[in-house]
Amino acid sequence: MNEGEDMAGTPCRECGKEYPDAARVCPHCHTPKNPDIPRYPAFSGSWVIKVIGILFLALVAVQLVSIFAGQD
Ligand SMILES: [Zn+2]
Repeated sequence: MNEGEDMAGTPCRECGKEYPDAARVCPHCHTPKNPDIPRYPAFSGSWVIKVIGILFLALVAVQLVSIFAGQD
């Protein structure tokens, strides 16, 4: 039994540390072994829409404040 050989498996593409082939994600930095699987699949793409929406709402709020402030 050589523990060093047993521990050697897949080198992490993110942090470079090796972990067992059985693990699907790196136990050190939680990067998935398969590069096709994004780390946050639920937020890929939709965050741009959220940011644009927040910026739009902020612009509208600023416009409303300036309109009400200028009425006096
Ligand atoms: Zn890692």
